[in-house]
Amino acid sequence: MSNSGHPKDQGERRGLMLVISSPSGAGKTTLCRKLMDRFDDIKLSVSATTRPPRPGETNGVDYHFKTRDEFREMIRKREFLEWALVFDNLYGTPRADTEALLASGHDVLFDVDWQGADALHDQMPRDVVSVFILPPSIEALKGRLAARPGSTDEIVERRMRDARAEMRHWRRYDYAIVNDDLEIAYHRLERILLVERLKRLRQLSLEDHVRELMGEA
Ligand code: ADP
Ligand code: 5GP
Repeated sequence: MSNSGHPKDQGERRGLMLVISSPSGAGKTTLCRKLMDRFDDIKLSVSATTRPPRPGETNGVDYHFKTRDEFREMIRKREFLEWALVFDNLYGTPRADTEALLASGHDVLFDVDWQGADALHDQMPRDVVSVFILPPSIEALKGRLAARPGSTDEIVERRMRDARAEMRHWRRYDYAIVNDDLEIAYHRLERILLVERLKRLRQLSLEDHVRELMGEA
Protein backbone atom coordinates (compact mmCIF):
# COMPACT_ATOMS: atom_id res chain seq x y z
CA MET A 1 0.00 0.00 0.00
CA SER A 2 1.16 3.50 -0.70
CA ASN A 3 -0.21 6.60 0.90
CA SER A 4 1.27 9.92 1.85
CA GLY A 5 -0.83 10.08 5.02
CA HIS A 6 -1.05 13.76 4.26
CA PRO A 7 -4.48 15.19 3.56
CA LYS A 8 -4.67 17.63 0.64
CA ASP A 9 -6.09 20.41 2.80
CA GLN A 10 -2.90 20.46 4.82
CA GLY A 11 -1.04 22.16 1.99
CA GLU A 12 2.63 22.60 1.33
CA ARG A 13 5.04 21.40 4.00
CA ARG A 14 8.73 21.10 4.72
CA GLY A 15 9.80 17.48 5.15
CA LEU A 16 11.44 16.21 8.31
CA MET A 17 14.53 14.13 8.98
CA LEU A 18 13.47 10.93 10.74
CA VAL A 19 16.60 9.61 12.41
CA ILE A 20 16.27 6.07 13.74
CA SER A 21 18.85 4.18 15.81
CA SER A 22 18.80 0.91 17.68
CA PRO A 23 21.14 -1.81 18.80
CA SER A 24 21.57 -4.27 15.94
CA GLY A 25 18.74 -6.84 16.01
CA ALA A 26 16.15 -4.63 17.76
CA GLY A 27 14.13 -4.29 14.55
CA LYS A 28 15.14 -0.96 13.05
CA THR A 29 15.39 -2.27 9.47
CA THR A 30 12.03 -4.04 9.73
CA LEU A 31 10.30 -0.90 11.05
CA CYS A 32 11.94 1.37 8.47
CA ARG A 33 10.87 -0.95 5.62
CA LYS A 34 7.27 -0.90 6.82
CA LEU A 35 7.33 2.88 6.93
CA MET A 36 8.72 3.11 3.39
CA ASP A 37 6.08 0.64 2.11
CA ARG A 38 3.30 2.69 3.63
CA PHE A 39 4.43 6.22 2.74
CA ASP A 40 5.56 7.12 -0.75
CA ASP A 41 6.81 10.56 0.33
CA ILE A 42 9.51 9.17 2.63
CA LYS A 43 12.93 8.65 1.06
CA LEU A 44 15.85 6.79 2.52
CA SER A 45 19.00 8.92 2.69
CA VAL A 46 21.64 7.61 0.26
CA SER A 47 25.14 7.95 1.74
CA ALA A 48 28.40 8.40 -0.10
CA THR A 49 31.17 5.89 0.57
CA THR A 50 34.67 4.96 -0.53
CA ARG A 51 33.84 1.27 -0.04
CA PRO A 52 33.71 -0.65 -3.34
CA PRO A 53 30.22 -1.79 -4.40
CA ARG A 54 29.17 -5.30 -3.36
CA PRO A 55 27.50 -7.56 -5.93
CA GLY A 56 23.97 -6.34 -6.56
CA GLU A 57 24.59 -2.81 -5.25
CA THR A 58 23.73 0.09 -7.55
CA ASN A 59 25.46 3.45 -7.59
CA GLY A 60 23.04 6.19 -6.53
CA VAL A 61 20.60 3.70 -5.01
CA ASP A 62 22.50 1.83 -2.29
CA TYR A 63 25.33 4.36 -2.04
CA HIS A 64 27.05 7.05 -4.06
CA PHE A 65 30.35 5.26 -4.63
CA LYS A 66 33.33 7.64 -4.54
CA THR A 67 37.10 7.47 -4.73
CA ARG A 68 39.03 8.63 -1.65
CA ASP A 69 40.07 11.78 -3.49
CA GLU A 70 36.49 12.57 -4.47
CA PHE A 71 35.33 11.96 -0.92
CA ARG A 72 38.10 14.14 0.58
CA GLU A 73 37.15 16.92 -1.83
CA MET A 74 33.54 16.65 -0.69
CA ILE A 75 34.69 16.96 2.95
CA ARG A 76 36.77 20.00 2.05
CA LYS A 77 33.80 21.65 0.35
CA ARG A 78 31.64 20.91 3.42
CA GLU A 79 29.26 18.84 1.31
CA PHE A 80 28.47 16.39 4.13
CA LEU A 81 26.03 16.81 7.00
CA GLU A 82 28.15 14.21 8.78
CA TRP A 83 30.81 11.71 7.83
CA ALA A 84 32.75 8.95 9.58
CA LEU A 85 35.49 6.43 9.09
CA VAL A 86 33.99 2.94 9.52
CA PHE A 87 36.22 -0.14 9.18
CA ASP A 88 38.76 1.67 6.94
CA ASN A 89 36.18 3.21 4.64
CA LEU A 90 34.69 6.69 4.63
CA TYR A 91 30.92 7.17 4.78
CA GLY A 92 28.96 10.41 4.71
CA THR A 93 25.52 11.97 4.31
CA PRO A 94 25.41 14.46 1.41
CA ARG A 95 23.94 17.77 2.52
CA ALA A 96 22.44 18.91 -0.82
CA ASP A 97 20.38 15.74 -1.38
CA THR A 98 18.75 16.03 2.03
CA GLU A 99 18.07 19.74 1.66
CA ALA A 100 16.43 19.23 -1.77
CA LEU A 101 14.20 16.44 -0.46
CA LEU A 102 13.09 18.44 2.58
CA ALA A 103 12.33 21.51 0.48
CA SER A 104 10.18 19.42 -1.89
CA GLY A 105 8.08 18.11 1.03
CA HIS A 106 9.68 14.69 1.38
CA ASP A 107 10.65 13.18 4.70
CA VAL A 108 14.14 11.67 4.78
CA LEU A 109 14.81 8.51 6.76
CA PHE A 110 18.25 7.98 8.35
CA ASP A 111 19.34 4.64 9.70
CA VAL A 112 22.40 5.71 11.73
CA ASP A 113 24.13 5.02 15.05
CA TRP A 114 24.03 7.45 17.97
CA GLN A 115 27.05 9.41 16.75
CA GLY A 116 25.46 9.89 13.33
CA ALA A 117 22.21 10.91 15.02
CA ASP A 118 24.05 13.46 17.18
CA ALA A 119 25.88 14.94 14.20
CA LEU A 120 22.67 15.24 12.13
CA HIS A 121 20.94 16.95 15.04
CA ASP A 122 23.85 19.40 15.41
CA GLN A 123 23.61 20.34 11.73
CA MET A 124 19.82 20.45 11.33
CA PRO A 125 18.28 20.84 14.81
CA ARG A 126 14.88 22.02 13.54
CA ASP A 127 14.50 19.24 11.00
CA VAL A 128 15.61 16.19 12.96
CA VAL A 129 13.13 13.96 14.76
CA SER A 130 15.01 11.13 16.46
CA VAL A 131 13.68 7.75 17.55
CA PHE A 132 15.48 5.02 19.46
CA ILE A 133 14.24 1.43 19.09
CA LEU A 134 14.72 -0.79 22.14
CA PRO A 135 14.30 -4.58 22.34
CA PRO A 136 11.74 -5.95 24.84
CA SER A 137 14.45 -7.95 26.66
CA ILE A 138 18.06 -9.05 26.35
CA GLU A 139 16.88 -12.62 25.67
CA ALA A 140 14.68 -11.42 22.78
CA LEU A 141 17.55 -9.39 21.32
CA LYS A 142 19.87 -12.38 21.54
CA GLY A 143 17.23 -14.61 19.97
CA ARG A 144 16.69 -12.20 17.04
CA LEU A 145 20.44 -11.90 16.44
CA ALA A 146 20.92 -15.66 16.60
CA ALA A 147 18.05 -16.25 14.15
CA ARG A 148 19.72 -14.20 11.45
CA PRO A 149 21.18 -16.17 8.56
CA GLY A 150 24.94 -16.62 8.95
CA SER A 151 24.96 -15.92 12.70
CA THR A 152 27.59 -17.60 14.88
CA ASP A 153 27.99 -17.51 18.69
CA GLU A 154 30.94 -15.19 18.26
CA ILE A 155 29.01 -12.74 16.05
CA VAL A 156 26.07 -12.75 18.50
CA GLU A 157 28.40 -12.11 21.47
CA ARG A 158 30.08 -9.21 19.70
CA ARG A 159 26.75 -7.72 18.64
CA MET A 160 25.48 -8.04 22.22
CA ARG A 161 28.47 -6.05 23.47
CA ASP A 162 27.91 -3.42 20.76
CA ALA A 163 24.20 -3.38 21.66
CA ARG A 164 24.93 -2.43 25.25
CA ALA A 165 27.24 0.37 24.09
CA GLU A 166 24.58 1.72 21.70
CA MET A 167 21.72 1.49 24.23
CA ARG A 168 23.67 3.64 26.69
CA HIS A 169 22.77 6.64 24.49
CA TRP A 170 19.00 6.19 24.32
CA ARG A 171 18.33 9.35 26.36
CA ARG A 172 19.64 11.57 23.55
CA TYR A 173 16.59 10.76 21.40
CA ASP A 174 13.26 12.58 21.14
CA TYR A 175 11.28 9.32 21.23
CA ALA A 176 11.86 5.72 22.27
CA ILE A 177 9.87 2.66 21.20
CA VAL A 178 10.11 -0.82 22.70
CA ASN A 179 9.77 -3.21 19.76
CA ASP A 180 7.93 -6.10 21.42
CA ASP A 181 4.85 -6.64 19.28
CA LEU A 182 5.88 -5.50 15.79
CA GLU A 183 2.47 -4.10 14.82
CA ILE A 184 2.21 -2.02 18.01
CA ALA A 185 5.77 -0.72 17.62
CA TYR A 186 5.13 0.16 13.98
CA HIS A 187 1.88 1.94 14.84
CA ARG A 188 3.77 4.05 17.40
CA LEU A 189 6.43 4.98 14.85
CA GLU A 190 3.75 5.98 12.35
CA ARG A 191 2.02 8.16 14.93
CA ILE A 192 5.29 9.93 15.74
CA LEU A 193 5.72 10.72 12.04
CA LEU A 194 2.15 11.98 11.58
CA VAL A 195 2.23 14.22 14.66
CA GLU A 196 5.65 15.63 13.82
CA ARG A 197 4.38 16.55 10.36
CA LEU A 198 1.88 18.85 12.05
CA LYS A 199 4.56 20.97 13.74
CA ARG A 200 3.73 24.57 12.91
CA LEU A 201 7.15 25.29 11.38
CA ARG A 202 6.72 22.42 8.89
CA GLN A 203 3.33 23.60 7.62
CA LEU A 204 4.64 26.18 5.18
CA SER A 205 1.29 27.07 3.63
CA LEU A 206 -0.15 28.17 6.98
CA GLU A 207 1.55 31.56 6.72
CA ASP A 208 -0.57 32.40 3.65
CA HIS A 209 -3.62 30.74 5.12
CA VAL A 210 -3.52 32.84 8.29
CA ARG A 211 -2.75 36.01 6.34
CA GLU A 212 -5.90 35.31 4.34
CA LEU A 213 -7.91 34.66 7.52
CA MET A 214 -6.69 37.99 8.87
CA GLY A 215 -7.68 39.78 5.68
CA GLU A 216 -4.06 40.63 4.95
CA ALA A 217 -3.65 38.58 1.78
P1 ADP B 1 18.05 -4.25 13.01
O1 ADP B 1 17.86 -3.54 11.71
O2 ADP B 1 17.72 -3.38 14.19
O3 ADP B 1 19.38 -4.91 13.14
P2 ADP B 1 16.08 -6.17 11.97
O4 ADP B 1 14.94 -5.32 11.54
O5 ADP B 1 16.97 -6.74 10.92
O6 ADP B 1 16.96 -5.43 13.10
O7 ADP B 1 15.44 -7.33 12.88
C1 ADP B 1 16.22 -8.40 13.41
C2 ADP B 1 15.38 -9.69 13.37
O8 ADP B 1 14.32 -9.60 14.31
C3 ADP B 1 14.75 -9.94 12.01
O9 ADP B 1 14.78 -11.33 11.77
C4 ADP B 1 13.31 -9.45 12.17
O10 ADP B 1 12.42 -10.14 11.34
C5 ADP B 1 13.06 -9.79 13.65
N1 ADP B 1 12.11 -8.85 14.28
C6 ADP B 1 12.01 -7.51 14.13
N2 ADP B 1 11.03 -6.99 14.91
C7 ADP B 1 10.48 -8.05 15.59
C8 ADP B 1 9.42 -8.18 16.56
N3 ADP B 1 8.73 -7.11 17.01
N4 ADP B 1 9.16 -9.39 17.03
C9 ADP B 1 9.86 -10.48 16.60
N5 ADP B 1 10.86 -10.45 15.68
C10 ADP B 1 11.18 -9.24 15.18
P1 5GP C 1 28.20 -1.14 4.94
O1 5GP C 1 29.55 -0.93 4.33
O2 5GP C 1 28.06 -2.54 5.53
O3 5GP C 1 27.08 -0.79 3.99
O4 5GP C 1 28.09 -0.12 6.18
C1 5GP C 1 29.05 -0.16 7.19
C2 5GP C 1 28.70 0.81 8.27
O5 5GP C 1 28.73 2.15 7.81
C3 5GP C 1 27.31 0.61 8.88
O6 5GP C 1 27.46 0.56 10.30
C4 5GP C 1 26.56 1.84 8.49
O7 5GP C 1 25.60 2.24 9.48
C5 5GP C 1 27.66 2.88 8.39
N1 5GP C 1 27.25 3.97 7.51
C6 5GP C 1 26.65 3.90 6.30
N2 5GP C 1 26.41 5.11 5.79
C7 5GP C 1 26.84 6.01 6.72
C8 5GP C 1 26.85 7.46 6.77
O8 5GP C 1 26.39 8.18 5.88
N3 5GP C 1 27.38 8.00 7.89
C9 5GP C 1 27.88 7.26 8.90
N4 5GP C 1 28.37 7.91 9.96
N5 5GP C 1 27.90 5.90 8.89
C10 5GP C 1 27.38 5.29 7.81
